[in-house]
Amino acid sequence: RSAAFPARKTLEDFDFDAQPAIRAQVGSLASGAFLTEARNIVLLGPPGTGKTHLAIALGVAAARHGHRVLFATATDWVTRLTEAHRSGRLPQELTKLRRYGLIIVDEVGYLPFEQDAANLFFQLVSSRYEHASLVLTSNLPFSGWAGVFGDQAVAAAMIDRIVHHADVLTLKGASYRLRGRGIDSLPS
Ligand code: ADP
Ligand code: MG
Repeated sequence: RSAAFPARKTLEDFDFDAQPAIRAQVGSLASGAFLTEARNIVLLGPPGTGKTHLAIALGVAAARHGHRVLFATATDWVTRLTEAHRSGRLPQELTKLRRYGLIIVDEVGYLPFEQDAANLFFQLVSSRYEHASLVLTSNLPFSGWAGVFGDQAVAAAMIDRIVHHADVLTLKGASYRLRGRGIDSLPS
C-alpha cells in the first residue's frame, strides 16, 4: 500500500499529555470503526499542534485494519482533480477514489481555492458522503472555510456533508515544534 505519507507517525508516538482533551476521542477512533461507518474526522487547530501527525497516525491505523489509504494536501488533491477534469475523466477518478476507504486531506485553509477548484473539491466530498471516509486537517475553524472556498454557499454545503457523520477534534495550545525553544506562541 502506498499511501504517500510525508512522514512516519503513529498513535503510539503521539504525546497525549500535550493534548489531554482529545485522548479518549482518539483512543476510540483507533479501532477503525469510523471507516466501516464511512464517518469523517476533522482535526482543527493552530500550527504545530499535531494535526498532520494524527492524520498520518489514523491513516497508518486504517491501513493496519486493511483499508486502502491515500494522503495528500488539499492543494495536491485539487491539482489531481483538476487534471482529471481537464482530460474528461473526473467521474472515473471519483469512482476510483471511492475504492479507497480513507482519503486524508491535509492543510485545508493554507491556500485559498479558485472557484473551479472549490467546485472540484466539493465533488470529492459529495462523492464520498455516506460512502467512504475523509480525514481533513485545518488551521481554520469552520467559520473561516468560506474564505478558503471563496463562496459561502459552497463552503456551507461542503461543511454540512463533512460534519453530518464526523468527529471533530480541536487541538489546542502552543506549537509542539517550538517546545523547549523559549518561544511561547506564534503570531496569530
Ligand atoms: P500541525 O500539522 O498541526 O501543524 P504536526 O502534526 O506537523 O503539526 O506536528 C509538528 C511536529 O511536532 C511533528 O514532528 C509532530 O510529530 C510533532 N508533534 C506535534 N504534536 C505532538 C504530540 N502531541 N506528540 C508527539 N509529537 C507531536
Ligand atoms: Mg500539518
